[in-house]
Amino acid sequence: AGISKLNISEKIKFEDLLFKSFLTIGSIKDNKKIEIEYQFAHSYYMDIDEIRILRVILNILANAIEAIHENGRIWIHTEDIKVENENFVEISIGNSNSFIEKEHLQSIFEPFFTRNKEKGTGLGLSIAQKIIKLHKGNIECFSEYDKGVEFIFFLPANKESY
Ligand code: ADP
Ligand code: MG
Repeated sequence: AGISKLNISEKIKFEDLLFKSFLTIGSIKDNKKIEIEYQFAHSYYMDIDEIRILRVILNILANAIEAIHENGRIWIHTEDIKVENENFVEISIGNSNSFIEKEHLQSIFEPFFTRNKEKGTGLGLSIAQKIIKLHKGNIECFSEYDKGVEFIFFLPANKESY
C-alpha cells in the first residue's frame, strides 16, 4: 500500500504511542545495554495517522539501537511550539554513541541511502520524512561527534486541555 493517503484518527495521546513503540523495540535491543529516558512537557493529543506515526518512531528508534556501539542512551523529549499561530509539538529523539557526518545529514532522508550496516534498505528515514510531511510537519537531523545523533520533528498537536 502506498502512503499518499493518511488514515487520521482523532485525539491520539502521544505518550500511548511511545509506550507502544517501547514494547516493540524491547525485543530488538540485542545484547546492547541501552537506557531509554523520556520527558514530556505535557500530555499531547494529536489528530494523526496512528499506525504511520508509530512507524516513524519505530524507524528512528531502530536506527538508534542499530547505531549504538555496545551501550548508550536514547532520549525522547517534547516541547511546545507555535508555527503561524498553530500549535505543534516538537519531538526530539536522540541517541549517544553514534555519529553522522555533516555531508550526510541531508542524504540520510533519500530513498536507498544506507551506510555502515550489513543489510540496510535505506528506506526507513525516507518513509519517515514522507509521513511527517503528509502531516504538515517537518523532520531534521543533527549530529555532533561527542553528543550523538538527534532527530527533531514536529507535528500538529494540542495540550491536555484539548
Ligand atoms: P537503513 O536503516 O535501512 O540503512 P534508514 O533510512 O533508516 O536506512 O537510515 C539511513 C542511514 O542513516 C543509515 O544507514 C545510517 O547510516 C544513518 N543513520 C540513521 N540513524 C542513525 C543514528 N541514530 N546514528 C547513526 N547513523 C544513523
Ligand atoms: Mg533504518
